[in-house]
Amino acid sequence: MLYVKPQMKKLDMYVPGESVGGVKLSSNENPFGASAKVNDVLANFTNFARYPDAQATILREKIAEFLAVDTKQLIFGAGVDDVIQLISRSVLAPGDNVVQATPTFPLYEQHAIIEGADVISVPLQNGVHDLDKMIAVINDRTKIIWLCNPNNPTGTYVNEMSLRKFLDSVPNDILVIVDEAYVEYVVAEDFPNTVELIGLYPNVVVLRTFSKVYGLASFRIGYGVGSEKFIQDLEVGRLPFNTGAIAQEVAAVAISDRDFVARSVAENIAGLAQYEEFFNKFDIRYYPSQTNFILIPCALELGMEIGAKLLEAGYIVRVLACGVRITIGSRADNDGVIACLQENLELLK
Ligand code: PMP
Repeated sequence: MLYVKPQMKKLDMYVPGESVGGVKLSSNENPFGASAKVNDVLANFTNFARYPDAQATILREKIAEFLAVDTKQLIFGAGVDDVIQLISRSVLAPGDNVVQATPTFPLYEQHAIIEGADVISVPLQNGVHDLDKMIAVINDRTKIIWLCNPNNPTGTYVNEMSLRKFLDSVPNDILVIVDEAYVEYVVAEDFPNTVELIGLYPNVVVLRTFSKVYGLASFRIGYGVGSEKFIQDLEVGRLPFNTGAIAQEVAAVAISDRDFVARSVAENIAGLAQYEEFFNKFDIRYYPSQTNFILIPCALELGMEIGAKLLEAGYIVRVLACGVRITIGSRADNDGVIACLQENLELLK
């Protein structure tokens, strides 16, 4: 028999959100697409035969300016997924461990296990990271703490004061990776400026993506920001052409179109309000969200029933072990989902 690491046989492949049979509200994509400027890039791109710029120089300079960091503090990937894999591969060895919340984004755990590391999962408290407990479980084999902020699938967040207190307590040789895939949607005023904290805490790495508010999920591009030394160490393991030339170009125009981002965020705020009003009116439990999705916490079986009703009505949502996660869509789609939920109130009580 051909050999693969035995732990890989115990894992399942990541299951993406369903996409057939209705309006897709299962992968937290931007329902309004992407900046119109992306179309111009695509219409004019002809350089197919050449390899992309392995350093993504133009995009790198734009993002460095946007975040007020040095260009050497950035590392690009085929989505944040790629950066999660690269960090796990670069840092973890058998016997090490990572600390994370549960539930959270599943790829942190997946890659830790593939590297032979253990995963210490700390349950959320009322939907929020239990930071004291996460500190308490750290041991001398802990290499990474994963902090998804705001958290997928709950949409909840760790505020600046809590994050700073947490970072003060983490030994400075343990990485704290803060996954900010949804940060552009955040409106809470006490949400931390985590990129700024890298100066104070060089063990912090922030992950950002073009797949969510920028509406570029199909291009596969995201990045990490950290202290120069650590990021440059990681670069050795990055595949040289892991981001394509078109992805680099569309990301560079998308980050400059702040109007598109602002409009998407405004629509999302209005969409979240539609759901919150409905949930509050009928006393349905949900987690207040700082993202473009909202979670109805419930057991898997019930979630599957709710998911089936929504699918019948033409909406694909994400049914998870911890509840039903619904991506905020257009006003009409949100109305449609809410109407269906209202017809099935008995499932939500
Ligand atoms: N982190 C979180 C929290 C996510 O929800 C996602 C997308 N589902 C990712 C990372 C991966 O995003 P990307 O498309 O950039 O790989």
